[in-house]
Amino acid sequence: MNRRTWMKTWGAVTPLPLLAGAAEKSRSNTVDVEIYRLKLRHTWTTTMASNDFRDEIQLRFTSEGITGHGEGAPIIRYKEDAVQNKAAVEAVRPLLTSADPRQFRKIIDEVFKQTQGNFAAKAAIDIALLDWFCQKQGIPLYRHLGLDSKDTPLTTFSIGIDTPEMTKQKVKEAEPYPILKVKVGLDKDESTMEAIRSVTKKPLRLDANEGFKSKEQAVEKINWLEKQGVEFIEQPLPAEMIEEAKWVRSKVHLPIFADESVLHPEDIPKIADTCDGIVVKLDKSGGIHEVLKMIDTARAFGKKIMIGCMVSSSVTITAAAHLSPLCDYADLDGNLLIANDPYSGVKVVNGKLILPERPGLGLVKA
Ligand code: MG
Repeated sequence: MNRRTWMKTWGAVTPLPLLAGAAEKSRSNTVDVEIYRLKLRHTWTTTMASNDFRDEIQLRFTSEGITGHGEGAPIIRYKEDAVQNKAAVEAVRPLLTSADPRQFRKIIDEVFKQTQGNFAAKAAIDIALLDWFCQKQGIPLYRHLGLDSKDTPLTTFSIGIDTPEMTKQKVKEAEPYPILKVKVGLDKDESTMEAIRSVTKKPLRLDANEGFKSKEQAVEKINWLEKQGVEFIEQPLPAEMIEEAKWVRSKVHLPIFADESVLHPEDIPKIADTCDGIVVKLDKSGGIHEVLKMIDTARAFGKKIMIGCMVSSSVTITAAAHLSPLCDYADLDGNLLIANDPYSGVKVVNGKLILPERPGLGLVKA
């Protein structure tokens, strides 16, 4: 072999192991984060606001040729917005691009240490890393969590606050869903309930979104609503009215679920006497790992669990659906309320959540 041939052969073969060794030392994962505008099918009204769209963040984490998808939907109620949450992801970009995503738990703990607030951003990172890891392992997320996909609960379909005529139309559109969730807490609760009950006898779950302003009003309203074929009610009073909420619970029979008053695992002991169950959401707590902590903590206090959502695409809704076998109830319809879902994942058949069997979250482009 002459020198030129030797150089050619050596040059073609030898650098590969050297490069592979270098890649182990300094990874170059990529992180794409963008503000995405979810367009609502109907103007969405609760006690908090009325909107035609919601801005949120979509995140793609790519490493070793696999892309994990994450999403976070910030809401004003929790003093979060999409611009801040995108900036929060940018602030931990060096950590995400250099870390080994197999160590997802270590990365997430570090993200929580480095980031104040911005729980939607934390959720997006956490979901994307777990999607990546489960795709790498070739298993669906629910299997990684040790769950049975047959145990998913039925999901409710939400009816936003509207005129009686529109409310009736929305109830008709919700025909495939056996359980409805109804937003209450405004002056027109009586006409809303009358409109709904004129067209359906389906079980109803109510969400007051902190809409009742005194403990006496809450008791009076809940006692009236109990007679309307209602299973339970979420967050009757403002989150900070904890003593009043304990009093209300002692005066009514209808089960009460805490939502806005319980964002993180450490909130559970404080509100345990105000409710019979809690609502967990990936966006408000900061992702799958935080919700798992909340579920275990709430169970230790003997509470029921409902897994809920913000208005979101199929990324977050599918991630939450993979966790739903751990929960008693599901309220996972955020993706059904939007007109521009970029992905599809979990399906709903007669109200039952059907999990994808593909690896990771199991998303496909819409
Ligand atoms: Mg709620």
